[in-house]
Amino acid sequence: MTTTDAVVIGSGPNGLVAANLLVDAGWSVVVLEEQQTPGGAVRSDDSVAPGHVHDTFSSFYPLAAGSPTIRGLGLEEHGLEWVQAPSVLGHAFPDGRWGVLHRDRGATAAGLDEQARGDGDSWLALCDTWDRVGDDLIRCLLSPFPPVRGGAGLGRQVLRPGGMELVREMLMPARSLTEKLFRGEAARMLVAGNSAHADIGLESPGSAAMGLLLALLGQTVGFPVPRGGAGELSAAMVRRLESRGGELCLGERAEGVRVQDGRAVAVRTASRELSVGRAVLADVSAPALYGGLVPWDQLPTRLRHRMGRFEWDPSTIKVDWALDGAVPWAGAPELSPGTVHIAESLDGLSLSGSQVAAGLVPEQPFLLVGQMGVADPSRVPLGHEALWAYTHVPQRVRGDAGAGRSDLREVRGTWDEADLDAMAERMEQRVESRAPGFRDRIIARRVLSPRELEARDANLVGGAINGGTAGLHQQLVFRPVAGSGRPETPVKGLYLASASAHPGGGVHGACGANAARAALWHHTIRPPWRRT
Ligand SMILES: Cc1cc2nc3c(=O)[nH]c(=O)nc-3n(C[C@H](O)[C@H](O)[C@H](O)COP(=O)(O)OP(=O)(O)OC[C@H]3O[C@@H](n4cnc5c(N)ncnc54)[C@H](O)[C@@H]3O)c2cc1C
Repeated sequence: MTTTDAVVIGSGPNGLVAANLLVDAGWSVVVLEEQQTPGGAVRSDDSVAPGHVHDTFSSFYPLAAGSPTIRGLGLEEHGLEWVQAPSVLGHAFPDGRWGVLHRDRGATAAGLDEQARGDGDSWLALCDTWDRVGDDLIRCLLSPFPPVRGGAGLGRQVLRPGGMELVREMLMPARSLTEKLFRGEAARMLVAGNSAHADIGLESPGSAAMGLLLALLGQTVGFPVPRGGAGELSAAMVRRLESRGGELCLGERAEGVRVQDGRAVAVRTASRELSVGRAVLADVSAPALYGGLVPWDQLPTRLRHRMGRFEWDPSTIKVDWALDGAVPWAGAPELSPGTVHIAESLDGLSLSGSQVAAGLVPEQPFLLVGQMGVADPSRVPLGHEALWAYTHVPQRVRGDAGAGRSDLREVRGTWDEADLDAMAERMEQRVESRAPGFRDRIIARRVLSPRELEARDANLVGGAINGGTAGLHQQLVFRPVAGSGRPETPVKGLYLASASAHPGGGVHGACGANAARAALWHHTIRPPWRRT
């Protein structure tokens, strides 16, 4: 039996980043991927309608563009081309007004000022602070926690003028922060709408973090997309890996990690056992690793207790549409945004999030919408659109907040065909309310249920998209369980490399990079007598 230095289980962005860093260090690496296509939740396909490329899951990559690790891979040399929509992000209000995040911060500020005098200056002041500390803050956030090497030094950089205040603001509830910073709904919703990408309630501490991070990255690096589809990002990572000797095995599911004397020594699949010389990096969810790939009898009892408290993030319904024309937005901004948020107001956004938290299908779901033809015209026939929207629903549905309304079909949360149809119709009504005539342009539709999302990527358990809640109680040293924060596991040579590890969901590659660096450190830098 041949021995490989490292086996990476799963070819999501974290797995592929990890594998690339290991081959760069001269390790032999095999990546096992259960699906027939690499990339995890970074894939695209044209099965909605011929000639229309839809991103099957994720679409916009400010976190990748802001990630020093992904930038450092030089994926452009392996065929990746980033493209951007004319403007970054738009919030569509019910009365036809828009809040727009432009590529140019002066234009963003001018638009916000038009709606509430003074908000433009507040936005520019925030951008100034970000210019001073943003890069260091990102590096801090993406480093293992607690930051024993390097990160502590970075922490000191963040103490530069304005840095600590920005960190404090990130820890605030998004509602109080945006109400403190801005007078108008347009500016408030640009930040709060981004907060709603994570599952922390707008009134809870820490919810401002994702809002500020995405809005400020949006202002500085944009919301780029790979030309040709999300899958092109994964394809570039695979090409880079293979050009350096790494091996990707598609359609091969890891079924177990063999542990001997407390160390990971092999990975089992249905047809073979791969002997591992140095490390196993698991780009699988924490519950799939602990008590799944590694049985409980090989793990400490306290981990089992702690995993009993592991909390998933909410579920997701995603709808993809092929359109034979552009979305006819009322009051459309002159420069079309790639990403559009739909919520009535800050209160509407809160309500939709609270209903999900209470186990209810939201009456007026918050929609994240992607206009992929706007962002990358190469994905659609001329003048057409490849549109998607997703929204969150509870993992366990207790009722429908929209029940009893004559204009809405009840959604039961069984997610059978009739239920998905009713939910997709509710989402279409939301788009139609901002873009009268939208439904007339639909030529094909696909609805991805929580079950379907999980069938296409086992990490998306019950339709959870972030590898576990982003709530503060499951972040940093609490991710995935209290006492973690670093990629090491109780099994020597086994590392958790997925979004279930710190710093969590999003395509930044940090979970994979942290795992790869920990593995390298244990084997390369530490003297042999201290190797574990
Ligand atoms: C609908 C949706 C929209 C999103 N939008 C965005 C966005 O616009 N921007 C953004 O930054 N993030 C977005 N995200 C989040 C982001 O995609 C994820 O956080 C990210 O993909 C996590 O990467 P990962 O490598 O940890 O896991 P994944 O991408 O989930 O990859 C895990 C891989 O492991 C494989 N696998 C699992 N178990 C096994 C096994 N036993 N053996 C072999 N292979 C296995 C899976 O098949 C999969 O390929 C979105 C996610 C979803 C679902």
